[in-house]
Amino acid sequence: MPEDTCAAEMSGLRRIRIEERCGLCGNGDDAEYRLYETEPRGTRRKVKIIGKQCVSCNTEWLPKEYIKNIPPRSAGTSPYLYQRNPPTDPKINVVRHKIDRKSSSCNVVEGNHITWLNEHGIWNHGIVAKITRDYGLGVIHWIEKDGVGIEVTKTYLPSVEDENSVYFRFEYPEETEQTNDLNLVLARAYSRTGDQKDGSLEDEALPFATFCKTGYEILPHVKSVSGKHGNDFIIYHLMSSAELVINLQVM
Ligand SMILES: [Zn+2]
Repeated sequence: MPEDTCAAEMSGLRRIRIEERCGLCGNGDDAEYRLYETEPRGTRRKVKIIGKQCVSCNTEWLPKEYIKNIPPRSAGTSPYLYQRNPPTDPKINVVRHKIDRKSSSCNVVEGNHITWLNEHGIWNHGIVAKITRDYGLGVIHWIEKDGVGIEVTKTYLPSVEDENSVYFRFEYPEETEQTNDLNLVLARAYSRTGDQKDGSLEDEALPFATFCKTGYEILPHVKSVSGKHGNDFIIYHLMSSAELVINLQVM
């Protein structure tokens, strides 16, 4: 028996091949899956599928390197995707840093979750998918769209070095960063591009970015401890089988 099969069976994890139906709910509708691809839609570059999410039951199916308790094999690849574990720790501490335009690296990289105040005074959130030479940010996020409501789109925001630009970067705990590497974060963001909804930016912006970073969505209702979003301390509830809470601190 191959090593990863043995480890997966011992830990009781379900697994499927990429072309197979969700191993949890058996969803048979291809349109009800989000494919996690390494490149944005419409690219001419070679695209690799690294996982998928069943929209019907919200389960993610990922290669073993993203799954705890399965030691990666020293060589070779596995054809299986494994069910993503619910988080073991019900709390995530997130630190919000101001992106410093004077810093040579601008302390922001592709795959980061950033937030900024939009022209209507709403805190938008997105995933950085591209940094241009002059530190403009290509960001995937919800935008308001006439006749639709909101849509997940990639837009370019003004340069970090622009005097009027104020961005904040969310720093997640090391364990979250390790088990959700930048390839996976970007693949989740790409998989959502073009999604449309009759919802509000205010409710959906943060859940989108947090989903890309962690694989879990925040419920639209934010429980605020000390006032409005953007103040010192906020607790968010995430949608998952285990209740997950995010504590946000402003640095
Ligand atoms: Zn399912």
